[in-house]
Amino acid sequence: MNKNRQHTIKRNVQIEGIGLHSGKTASLMVKPALPNTGILFIRTDLAQPVSIPATFEFVTQTKLATTLGRFSNGVSVQISTVEHLLCAFKLMGIDNAVVEVNGPEVPIMDGSAAAFCEHLMSAGLYEQAVSRKVAVLKKRIEIHKGDKSASIEPSFRLKIDAKVEWNHPAIGKQNYSYTMGESDFKEIAMARTFGFLKDVEQLQKMGLARGGSLDNAVVLDEVRVLNREGLRYRNEFVRHKVLDAIGDLALAPMAILGDVSLVKAGHELHAELVNAIFSDPSQYEVKSLEEINEKTDPNFVNPWLVSALGQ
Ligand SMILES: [Zn+2]
Repeated sequence: MNKNRQHTIKRNVQIEGIGLHSGKTASLMVKPALPNTGILFIRTDLAQPVSIPATFEFVTQTKLATTLGRFSNGVSVQISTVEHLLCAFKLMGIDNAVVEVNGPEVPIMDGSAAAFCEHLMSAGLYEQAVSRKVAVLKKRIEIHKGDKSASIEPSFRLKIDAKVEWNHPAIGKQNYSYTMGESDFKEIAMARTFGFLKDVEQLQKMGLARGGSLDNAVVLDEVRVLNREGLRYRNEFVRHKVLDAIGDLALAPMAILGDVSLVKAGHELHAELVNAIFSDPSQYEVKSLEEINEKTDPNFVNPWLVSALGQ
């Protein structure tokens, strides 16, 4: 696999589960796509299929989950809970895919990205003859909201450093750091979303989170984790925050390189950070990943040069 090149999947893959909010079956058909497509969602359950690119301009909601949407024939069309699937595409190294969705939600699966990763892996990767494009920052960008913050520092990798702090005996303060391409995806892929029992009950009264259960989230009461099997990682909460951030940063029009630092951040701040970077083109430079790797990796061997020299 040439990591400088764009990749898609080799064949269609179907994924089924339930929608977190509707509680109804939600299914996806993920299909290979041409270079430079990015991830393109298509709502196929409507009279006229509606496509929604997975980019920050289409983010309509960041409460509870990240929702994409657009108006089509005067009707608002939405697809919610996209972030865990988008994270799985990144973790698996997939740049281009079409995702057909049969309703307003991506299935929640077990609340992590693990099932998506498995399905995508089973489809296999297909290398495309086009370089990956990346955005290299020219300066530090920072966003603050109360005690929450998100910042990005220029660098030639994507590193995410997250901190969470909850005044809860099962969470407390947690730190975690993940570097794309260096860390093992299994370090975060299985980390589940989490919620508090009182909030879940409140949401269900409002007709939301109908599909929410101990099968698709870590649920906490006032003092402990209620899931019988306990946690999958000692610090599963902060690892899930990193998973969410990778999914939300995937809404950039091209891969972002930089050292990201997140303090108590969530979908809203992640989306604002992407917006802050890409709303001003003077803040970043678009490069091919090949150019970056030639500069930064002394052992990098340009495959084109090798074949040209007949080595
Ligand atoms: Zn999440």
